[in-house]
Amino acid sequence: MIDQIHEDKNVCIDCQTRLGNILQTDNFTSEEIHLLDKPKRMIIFTVPVKMDSGEVKTFNAYRVQYSDARGPGKGGVRFHPEVEEEEVKNLAFLMALKCALVDVPFGGAKGGVEVDPKKLSKGELERLSRSFMREIHPFIGEQVDIPAPDVNTNAEVMGWMVDEYAKIQGKFVPGIITGKPLSLGGSKGRTEATALGGAYVLRTYLERTGKTVEGSTVAIQGFGNVGAHIARILHEWGAKIVAVSDSKQALYNEEGFDIPALLAAADSGRLSNDTGAEVISNDELITLEVDVLIPAAISHQINKHNVNDIKTKLILEMANDPVTTASDAILEEKQITVIPDILANAGGVMVSYFEWVQNSSNDYWTVEKVYSELETRMVAAVNSVMDDCEAEGYCNLRKQSYLLSVKRIIEAERARGRLS
Ligand code: NAD
Repeated sequence: MIDQIHEDKNVCIDCQTRLGNILQTDNFTSEEIHLLDKPKRMIIFTVPVKMDSGEVKTFNAYRVQYSDARGPGKGGVRFHPEVEEEEVKNLAFLMALKCALVDVPFGGAKGGVEVDPKKLSKGELERLSRSFMREIHPFIGEQVDIPAPDVNTNAEVMGWMVDEYAKIQGKFVPGIITGKPLSLGGSKGRTEATALGGAYVLRTYLERTGKTVEGSTVAIQGFGNVGAHIARILHEWGAKIVAVSDSKQALYNEEGFDIPALLAAADSGRLSNDTGAEVISNDELITLEVDVLIPAAISHQINKHNVNDIKTKLILEMANDPVTTASDAILEEKQITVIPDILANAGGVMVSYFEWVQNSSNDYWTVEKVYSELETRMVAAVNSVMDDCEAEGYCNLRKQSYLLSVKRIIEAERARGRLS
């Protein structure tokens, strides 16, 4: 089937490979697949910024609106020196699958600016954020495409962008962007949403397979927003967090870390080894014999160099794309269960959806309501994947998640009359 797909410079190669993997397990027509192997719309543009020196620099920027079948585009904007078109396409495709999987009424999108924000002053960063919004504003909207934070962008950047959009429109439109500061219509619970969503997914999976979070041993790669929050939550739920890491070091404690003490000792998000834990390498962390391994840092951390040494039987992908495609096949052969990123880390987009709903209705939720809605919807999502898996008689959660997402997107395309 995949061989019949025509060569086309707009095709997303990585997406085509991912679709090829699921085509082996189900039948989609080439017409259906053509709707998904390339983005609906790509905006390639430049962002001029007046630097502190007075010189104007232009930065390359991208916004990919991958699918609009189920609703407006949704996805983050990253500021990173390695941002390029193919990566943005791939990330936008994953957003489309993620939104469909957790059943929020969005398509998928992603954006980025090729820039090293660490080399910018605060003023330059603000002017970049505002200039980005001035250039992209004709192509986005509350019912068109809703950006959000991603790598190196945060609530402050979203605040500048929503303000710039208000200046252009002559009115405040909070639903144009999510991940905003609370004072500008952000949602309570957004900061910890991704980690809490992943914890709900893990707990549901373990319960359905006759296990519990309580007493499980866990190793976590990455101690940033997602890694530190999921460490705290799972520790509160009785798990034993035996290893943690950041980009500088990995720490091991056979007895399990006192996570509140570790969080208190962390210096601006960096792990501190005042606890006297054993220092190990990042590869040693990845290959520890634990009940649950949680990659929560960057992509491709499970790869040909370490995949054959993996000893855990369960991986919860909190980072985006932490396992290379080739390694994924090896994990399947080794019967290691992978709870895929599009399911495990969807709590972030879920609460972004709640933020958009709150902005549309002007009815702002308590944090208790955010947590309770998040739990209901994440548990429903993992249950629907696991139900499908059991019905099929096998359980590759990634393939089953992709299948469910693609079916939902195709169903919406068909309902719109875009298929014969
Ligand atoms: P973050 O920048 O807050 O934290 C990243 C952490 O990873 C830091 O502790 C950093 O030191 C560590 N790290 C970086 N390189 C490493 C390496 N080589 N080895 C070990 N640790 C390393 O980022 P975050 O928001 O926590 O996001 C983490 C991952 O989760 C990313 O893949 C991101 O795309 C994904 N994600 C985040 C959200 C969200 O809401 N924040 C939502 C969905 C997916």
